[in-house]
Amino acid sequence: MFETLSREADDPLLALTPLFRADPNPAKVDLGVGVYRDELGRTPVFRAVKRAEAHLLETQETKAYVGPEGDRTFIEAFWTFVAGEGRHAAGVQTVGGTGALRLAAELLRRSGSSRIFLGTPTWSNHSAIFAAAGLSVVTYPSFDVAGQRLLAGEMISVVADKAQPGDAILLHASCHNPTGAVMDDATWAAVAEVALEKGLVPVIDSAYQGFGTGIESDAAPLRRLLDRVPEAIVAASASKSFGLYRERTGAVYATSASPETRDKLKSHLVTIGRGAYSMPPDHGAAVVRTILTDPELRTDWRTELDDARKRITSMRTILAKGLSRLSPALAAIATQQGMFSLLPIDETRIVELRHRRGIYMPLSGRINIAGLNSSQAPGVIEALCAHAA
Ligand code: PMP
Repeated sequence: MFETLSREADDPLLALTPLFRADPNPAKVDLGVGVYRDELGRTPVFRAVKRAEAHLLETQETKAYVGPEGDRTFIEAFWTFVAGEGRHAAGVQTVGGTGALRLAAELLRRSGSSRIFLGTPTWSNHSAIFAAAGLSVVTYPSFDVAGQRLLAGEMISVVADKAQPGDAILLHASCHNPTGAVMDDATWAAVAEVALEKGLVPVIDSAYQGFGTGIESDAAPLRRLLDRVPEAIVAASASKSFGLYRERTGAVYATSASPETRDKLKSHLVTIGRGAYSMPPDHGAAVVRTILTDPELRTDWRTELDDARKRITSMRTILAKGLSRLSPALAAIATQQGMFSLLPIDETRIVELRHRRGIYMPLSGRINIAGLNSSQAPGVIEALCAHAA
């Protein structure tokens, strides 16, 4: 039977890493995979994470199962980080933000939802995750790459025209991947109104909290939406905000005004996870719990996250200034947020940049701004201007 299988394509983004490693060019620059990098190109373990790990190593007395929902203190503390104080939700710990999205998709299907609306471009795994859970994915264009502009009006009208009660709509909480585009307050409010009017379920993907303008301000639109729309799902990742990528740490939360409904929602989230992997891994969640419940570690973690954000913002300013020579629209890179921006460069030139200049980015033109440092930035700007012409 196995011989009948055809080979699946490699993930083009992940395939860039071995190519980059093999390139002998000493001036090579990796603008590919979406992990934060410091000025020296490293993806360091946060200081607070190291200290929390040392504490766990010393104090942990058992490796017995935590339980199917995960670590309750983590689930609650992480929800407060995302949603602020005083909001209620049914939450379970998940295998990263990806696991949270997958559980969200399964929960939607169990609730009778069969379609999700995705604005494109979006994170390349979104449609795969929702389709794997059996949802139909409806895409609509939500960003003009050449103009570096969010198609806010178009987005609202597509959803208002085409979505049916029970459909879901995916939203990026902040720091849009791959465009960095910022959805303004009026658009968030309009999305909330359409969701309410048409009976849609917003699914909010929160994977970069703290990388836009700050931990609290990045979460503000999501929190306002939760205040307005009673039923929503939040898929939250600790991968970037705590630098815990490989520890697979996240949580999914479903909201409802009724405690009975929240109890039912939690029972479904637990059984979906149980049928897939039984229980989530402990370590990353234990680290996040330790940091969020210790004022000193918490302060140190926030400082380090703030420093990462400031570094990205300063790279954005330099890049925007340099690239606006190429196209005035690229000045928007300075006001976009998070790790990514999407450059209007065609595939031939992207391959040329890789071969001739050692600048690595996926063929989509998405760049990880954190892959740049101040000494490389001028050379990258010069190469992008030369090869885009
Ligand atoms: N959502 C978005 C938009 C992402 O970019 C990512 C990771 N690249 C995730 C969710 C999932 O993150 P993880 O599973 O690594 O926590």
